[in-house]
Amino acid sequence: MKCPVCGMDCVRSAKDILATLPKIFLPCSECSIRILDKRAPLSDLSYALPCSCGKRFIDEVFAHRYVIMVEQGDLKKTDPLFMVGSPLVHPGFAMDRPPFLPEKSLLLLSPRVTKQSADILMRDVPELRGVVKTDNFIPGIADPDLNTVPKVYDLLAGCDVRADVFPLWTGPLVMYKQQSLIHIEFPRGGYPKIHSVEQHVGKPPVPYFVDACSGVGTLGLAAACMGVPHVVMNDAWYASAFWSAFNLEINRDYVKLKKIKIFEQYDDMQKHPVAKEPIKIAETDGEQLIEVYQGDFRLLYHALSPGSPVTAIDIFDKNDRTTIEAIQKEWQARVGGDVFIP
Ligand SMILES: [Zn+2]
Ligand SMILES: [Zn+2]
Repeated sequence: MKCPVCGMDCVRSAKDILATLPKIFLPCSECSIRILDKRAPLSDLSYALPCSCGKRFIDEVFAHRYVIMVEQGDLKKTDPLFMVGSPLVHPGFAMDRPPFLPEKSLLLLSPRVTKQSADILMRDVPELRGVVKTDNFIPGIADPDLNTVPKVYDLLAGCDVRADVFPLWTGPLVMYKQQSLIHIEFPRGGYPKIHSVEQHVGKPPVPYFVDACSGVGTLGLAAACMGVPHVVMNDAWYASAFWSAFNLEINRDYVKLKKIKIFEQYDDMQKHPVAKEPIKIAETDGEQLIEVYQGDFRLLYHALSPGSPVTAIDIFDKNDRTTIEAIQKEWQARVGGDVFIP
């Protein structure tokens, strides 16, 4: 499959990704392991090369990146190892031991990295997929009223598309995302949001489910995979709505559909990064109707077909009780059905 960001083959179907698990990060009998203290500097500025099997222990990859970033002046020799940045593995899933990384299995997010060192990192560290410069803000929509242009991180080199795998009783879901454009959500142990969708969908599944703030579509697609006949996913941010539609394609083998009709391509969507009035991005043909919209969830009732859906509203700030109650009340008045905050 062609990647919508870099045009290369860095995205694969859910089936292909799942076929590589769980062995993808396991060592061969020759692989070596050196555990490094991330809170200390690297004492000798050295690193081991990948094993003949093509994999290398994650700490050794840390060391390689550290050496390059010290040589390039991004870091000082006295900086602790963790300052190279956050490593996000691809595909991401719950692991019980640190990974041995094959080629192109790691995205580096760092506040310190420069364009020049990013190019050297991509050239010299085979495990890297891409290098993203982070900053002191959360990428994507921060203003609930959708009136400001969202800020995003800088992709300096390579590609920032990677996937996370979520367990579901029907089989795992593979969710791709473009990491410089959306907030990094480390899956919490036990996947509580997925469980809360499982509880609200039930067996047999409810007829109609709305994922009102879908992000890249995890909860909506979870409901679709559980067999909900009609699912709506929606997000105001183009990167989220786009990847919701893309992830539908990636996981299409688990859903009963004939065809996915795409109404807007990635380049068109970039022209309206934030949408208020819902725009239809994609829709399926077949036994299950799955729709993807880009818009403000408070206006989604303009686009929803009648019925009493079960609605998940996964808003970002869950600490503000008053706002949450107002949102739920408004939704119940306009749309009805069961509404929950996952
Ligand atoms: Zn790509
Ligand atoms: Zn090996």
